Amino acid sequence: MHSVVCIKQVPDTTEVRIDPKTNTLMREGVPSIVNPFDMHAVEAALKLRDEYGGKVTVITMGPPQAVEALRRVKTLGVDRTILLSDRAFAGSDTLATSYIITQAVKKIDSEDAVDLVLCGKQAIDGDTAQVGPGIATRLNMPLVTYVIDIDSVDTEKKTITLKRSVENGRTALCVEYPMLMTVLKELNEVRYASLPNMILATNFKAEVWNKDDIGAEMKNMGLDGSPTAVRKIFSPPVRECGEMIPHGIEQPDVAVHNLIEKLSHNKTI
Ligand SMILES: Cc1cc2nc3c(=O)[nH]c(=O)nc-3n(C[C@H](O)[C@H](O)[C@H](O)COP(=O)(O)OP(=O)(O)OC[C@H]3O[C@@H](n4cnc5c(N)ncnc54)[C@H](O)[C@@H]3O)c2cc1C
Repeated sequence: MHSVVCIKQVPDTTEVRIDPKTNTLMREGVPSIVNPFDMHAVEAALKLRDEYGGKVTVITMGPPQAVEALRRVKTLGVDRTILLSDRAFAGSDTLATSYIITQAVKKIDSEDAVDLVLCGKQAIDGDTAQVGPGIATRLNMPLVTYVIDIDSVDTEKKTITLKRSVENGRTALCVEYPMLMTVLKELNEVRYASLPNMILATNFKAEVWNKDDIGAEMKNMGLDGSPTAVRKIFSPPVRECGEMIPHGIEQPDVAVHNLIEKLSHNKTI
C-alpha cells in the first residue's frame, strides 16, 4: 500500500503574521511546526505500511525552509520525502495549492502507483480545509473527510473500512481506493521518533521538485492562478460575555418575568 501524505509547515502559534500591504502570510522568522493534523495523517500512513506493507511518501509545498517539516517526519520513519518549491508557487491560494500538489501526486503515481492520499482536516494557519478536497477533485478520487478511525484494508478488493466524524456521531464507510482522506486528531497517537531515524534525519536530503519537474502551468499557480484574493485580514472583535438572569433554575417564572421586563425596557420586544 503506497500512501502519499501532504503536510504543511505552519507557524508555531495561533498569531499568524500577515503582511498588511499584500495580505499574504509572512512565514520568515516565525518558528514553525508540522501542521498538527498532518502528523496524525503521517502516523496513519505509517501504521498502514506497518500492517499491510508498502511505503509512505510525504510531500510539502513551501519555501526552502519547509524541508524542516520533512526532516521532522523523517524521524518517524517515512520512506520518501519531496519538497515542492519554486518561486512560481508563491502567492498561491487554495485552488492553486491543490493544483500544484495534484501535479506532484500524479508524478509520484506515474513512478509508483498511489493507493491513498492523506491530508490533515485543515491547516491551523489558513484554516480553510479546502486543499484536501481540492486535490481529491482534481485526481477524481473518492474523498472522505474527518476520518477518526481506520478499521481495516482489503488489499484484494482494494477497499478500506473507516469511520468519519459527523455532527451527531460517526459514520462507518467502506470505500474503494485509490482515495483521499482528511483526518482528525482522534484517529491515532503520533509515535515518538526512534534514535536510528533521528540519526538518519540529521543527514537526509529531501528531493526538491520545481514547477518543471511536475509539469505545472504558470497560469494555474501563484498569484496568476489564484482567483481568490484576501481583501482584508483582521482579528474578530472579542465577544462580550452574556448577561445572566438570576433564579433561572429554582424560580423560572421569576426569571421569565425579569427577562420580559428587561427586554420591554430595552424596547427590543
Ligand atoms: C484567498 C487566499 C489567498 C492566499 N494568498 C497567499 C499568498 O499570497 N501567499 C501565501 O504564502 N499564502 C497564501 N494563501 C495561503 C495559501 O493558500 C494556503 O497556505 C494554502 O493554500 C493552504 O491552505 P490552508 O492553509 O487553508 O490549508 P487547508 O486547506 O486547511 O489544509 C488542509 C490540508 O491540506 C494539506 N496542505 C495544505 N497546504 C499544504 C502545503 N503547502 N503543502 C502540503 N500539504 C498542504 C495538509 O494536509 C493540510 O492539513 C492564501 C490563501 C487564501 C485563501
